[in-house]
Amino acid sequence: MPPSPDSERPPKRQKSSSPMANIPNVIDVAPMGTVLMTVSELAGVKSAKLRLSQDMLTIASPIFADMITKAMQAGSTSGDAVLIDAAGDDEPEALYLLFNILHNRNEKLPSRLTAEALCKLARMVEKYKCATSIGRGTTMWFDRLYNSAKAGTVAVDVWKMVEATFLLDEPMFFARFTEMWVLSEPLASNTLLSAVRDGDVTMKRLAVELFNRRHAQSAAIKGDVDLLVDPCSVAFAQSAKHYIDYAPGMPPDADDDGKTVGSMCHVDEGAAIIFLGALRDDLIWPPLVWPTTLGALISQLQAFRTPAYDDCDKCDFCEDVKTRFGLAVDVVKKMHKDRLWGLCLDCFKAGGVKEGECRYEHSKPKGK
Ligand SMILES: [Zn+2]
Ligand SMILES: [Zn+2]
Repeated sequence: MPPSPDSERPPKRQKSSSPMANIPNVIDVAPMGTVLMTVSELAGVKSAKLRLSQDMLTIASPIFADMITKAMQAGSTSGDAVLIDAAGDDEPEALYLLFNILHNRNEKLPSRLTAEALCKLARMVEKYKCATSIGRGTTMWFDRLYNSAKAGTVAVDVWKMVEATFLLDEPMFFARFTEMWVLSEPLASNTLLSAVRDGDVTMKRLAVELFNRRHAQSAAIKGDVDLLVDPCSVAFAQSAKHYIDYAPGMPPDADDDGKTVGSMCHVDEGAAIIFLGALRDDLIWPPLVWPTTLGALISQLQAFRTPAYDDCDKCDFCEDVKTRFGLAVDVVKKMHKDRLWGLCLDCFKAGGVKEGECRYEHSKPKGK
């Protein structure tokens, strides 16, 4: 929702004898401010003037500082006030929202913002190079949108949010929304790459990196699933076949009549068949049966329970498939718990793995 300046004090003649008293259509963002920025229209007021703090603008943005300096040099003043015009392509509502954040007018900030509005704000912050001053002022909106998107109550364009978190230099939600993209974008989908074909260079690089990230994560999970299948497959290997209580390759002893007796041991095979069947039922293995998104696959993995299997008949020469499989399930689940599924903003900006600490905590490859 665009910010609504409806509740602003209606423009009226001021009683003071300040030189600004005669300037109409003023909306106070900073009541004592000495900068008046004219916007095309705000809250139905044509050529509205936003009263802003010169100090705040100068500290927050080198671009605003420059605009003010130029206006002063050109003599665009009225008494104490410096008069500047908003850029024609800046949306007045987005500017108004930006100024309310910069001037700490928390009571004027909407409790919710749509993904589109947040994106517009982000582009404006980028344009005026004031991400540092905005600081964590946008966290509340990201938090709301992230939670609604996660709960599925609001359809959010995740790529837009990735872009907004990038422009606003918001490491926590950059990691969260890139993760959301990697986990929720169907594995077969290529739409992002075609969508950013005309975007700027950084956004294209971001899209490509996100795309590659999903590919790498998918390959990594294939490797994790191999860890689960391996203890099962060993039960079917020729080298593991053995008679009960006899090592593989050893024939059982002959009985008094000279006949060999004894039966093959099938404890491991039984376990392997049950476990592989369960993996298949839960759409974890083989990759052919995977769900369409990595997120769904990971949920399946996290919810997976090793089926009960009674291996009390195992002998000394069994491979102990049951125990090894159970351990592998634990290891894979644990690895997934603290894996960075999405991207780290600091690492992305560093063009690889950032040296030292990142603002978003994550594990890094050893030796880097
Ligand atoms: Zn055995
Ligand atoms: Zn990092």
